[in-house]
Amino acid sequence: MTFVRVALDVPVPTLFDYRAEHAVANDVGSRVLVPFGKKVAVGVIFELAQETTLAPQRVRNVLSILRDVPPLSNDILMLLKFSSDYYHHPIGQVVMGTLPTRLRRRQVLTSRVVRYRYQLTVAGQSVAPETLPARAVVKRKLLELLRSNVSGMEEDQLRVASPRAAPVLKVMMQQGWLRRNEVASSDVRRPVIPVRQTLGPTLTDEQRQTVALLRGAKGGFIPWLLRGVTGSGKTEIYLQLIADTLAAGHQALLMVPEINLTPQLEALVHARFPDTTLVSLHSGLSEGERLHHWLAAQSGEAGIVLGTRLAIFAPLPRLGLIVVDEEHDTSFKQMDGLRYSARDLALVRAKKRAIPIVLGSATPALETFQNALTGTYRTLTLAQRVNAMPPTIECVDTRCESMVDGLSQTLLNGVREMTKRGEQSLIFINRRGYAPVLMCASCGWTSGCHRCSARLVVHLKDHQLRCHLCGHQERLPVSCPQCGNQDLLPLGQGTQRIETTLTRIFPEARILRIDRDSTRRKHAWGEMRQKIADRQVDILVGTQILAKGHDFPQLNLVGVVNADSSLYSTDFRAAERLFARLTQVAGRAGRGATRGRVLVQTEFPTHPLYQALQRDDYPAYAHELLAERKQAGFPPFVHQAVLRAESAQLETALAFLAAAAHAAAPYGDQVAIYDPVPASVSRMAGLERAHLVVQSRSRSRLQSFLRNWHVHLLATAEHRVRWALDIDPQEL
Ligand code: ADP
Ligand code: ZN
Ligand code: ZN
Repeated sequence: MTFVRVALDVPVPTLFDYRAEHAVANDVGSRVLVPFGKKVAVGVIFELAQETTLAPQRVRNVLSILRDVPPLSNDILMLLKFSSDYYHHPIGQVVMGTLPTRLRRRQVLTSRVVRYRYQLTVAGQSVAPETLPARAVVKRKLLELLRSNVSGMEEDQLRVASPRAAPVLKVMMQQGWLRRNEVASSDVRRPVIPVRQTLGPTLTDEQRQTVALLRGAKGGFIPWLLRGVTGSGKTEIYLQLIADTLAAGHQALLMVPEINLTPQLEALVHARFPDTTLVSLHSGLSEGERLHHWLAAQSGEAGIVLGTRLAIFAPLPRLGLIVVDEEHDTSFKQMDGLRYSARDLALVRAKKRAIPIVLGSATPALETFQNALTGTYRTLTLAQRVNAMPPTIECVDTRCESMVDGLSQTLLNGVREMTKRGEQSLIFINRRGYAPVLMCASCGWTSGCHRCSARLVVHLKDHQLRCHLCGHQERLPVSCPQCGNQDLLPLGQGTQRIETTLTRIFPEARILRIDRDSTRRKHAWGEMRQKIADRQVDILVGTQILAKGHDFPQLNLVGVVNADSSLYSTDFRAAERLFARLTQVAGRAGRGATRGRVLVQTEFPTHPLYQALQRDDYPAYAHELLAERKQAGFPPFVHQAVLRAESAQLETALAFLAAAAHAAAPYGDQVAIYDPVPASVSRMAGLERAHLVVQSRSRSRLQSFLRNWHVHLLATAEHRVRWALDIDPQEL
């Protein structure tokens, strides 16, 4: 008798047994259709078995094994199993949740993924690109590309060159300039990785030494920390390693924190390895694209996979290198469902495959930094910027300056000087909207969200108050809802207000605001980046989006507004995060020929964080923070997990947690169990939130404790409470 153990997308931590007489060993990892209750469900065969503990009359037959795509390989199944065990998340939900959406559906993939190769027709060849109208930017680019690649190019390659290639290709087909042929599927599957490489820059001495160290290391699992100041050319190191990896016939996985960073990097990597198939994996892809890219990774056709955190689950049969860029970034941690850290799983995956992994950052996570100090990771350092001086960082003491809507005279003078010289400035403020709250001058009423413990943010342009947590929005009131007074004041600064103020002070300057509101439209951010590069902007006002990894050569002044707000936060990671964020923002200044200047507005210029920032001395500050963490018994010196609970009533959530804490006591050998407390955002979207922290010096003790505790929690279902375990939580 043959049975299959199937992973199904249900919140139960088990596999489900079915009878499958015709199943063969090769079907492990394949999708399968099975009856589930009265429905048909799709799952993945996790194991084959010769027996089952189910009573014979309860065992049902599989309906069909879908062999439409190749099965998941063993190493992926192991990674999924590990994720399920370590994060205490149901195996079926881990497996199904990490598959491309198309594969989670019941349908057999009948529609083949058809790929086309485009070539210029005789008519198309006779069109000179320079005769096209100036606004036909994409068309001209495509025409130029296809003229220089007479054997034709695939849509993917063209799309790397321009994200808007697809509709333009269609038009060019209609004009008779192009013809296309289907790429034979045998070509698609052929796992040949051509490694032609275009010439990169001559390496700096530091880069050369770093690459030499990496190349000199013996093979196998080696975790490297590449600590390089902003602009030190870390990307070039990655490209060198990728070249080696491809030359050895292996695949490389390059992970970045943000979708926004992928197009630029994709273009760069593609230009360096023009013949290698490069695919991206992130949540911005259409379902079809995601599947197609995933299959290209699985078939081995893609030599390079570039992706955000979900890419860590991509099947890569010949994986030879993992790079995690900006490894400290919290975007690598998923905050719901399977709450995994893609960086940590990358280490697990590299270890299992016995391959090198490079974690790159200017400000490594303290967990990583500590591992480097103890020698668990090997450290590589790039201390100098390529072709540029480090920026000067000054604190502007806001207590001794006259301020205009949150902007100091020193900062305004700096901006004025830049604008005069035709250079760009950036004002960084980590808050979008006009003002963080509306207040009544007469009775003191403030705008609060009725569903969250949060202020409603003033969005003046849209005449709205908006909650940034739950999305609730309402019209801006004309009078105070409490006392009827019409004197309502927006308090504090947001990007829109800074923009308005700057427009008033610098009426001739071209000002561009870049935040989640202004970049919501597809392609908006790409177009803005182009505008900045084309020098059509004098002053940028922006949030986090601007801070990460972008290269703007004309940008020479960065002003930081409102950084103090996270200085005395209750979150023990706040200082680490602030330092990282400010380093990144500061890193935008002076990437070209001129030395950059950074002005940080603060009321606490002598704070150790700002002192270390001014010296650009992350290691010193990291040591300081580590000493504090050690003394206080915080990570990385202990390992944490948190049980999160949400309920309509805070008492219900707290009572659930109290009972959970009580039940935990007997399992808690060498595990500290803390008291339940309301979460820092204690009410969100109408639900009260509370949590309970558990921690231990020993990861394995904590894990075995969690296993027992989790079983207990599953058995004591409390329908009024939604709960979840979060392992290695990044916020409390
Ligand atoms: P990081 O990621 O360390 O902040 P980047 O990799 O973005 O730095 O490199 C900063 C800039 O320096 C980029 O514009 C890059 O093209 C350039 N660059 C890197 N290495 C070299 C080199 N060896 N010679 C010239 N330019 C380089
Ligand atoms: Zn009032
Ligand atoms: Zn809300």
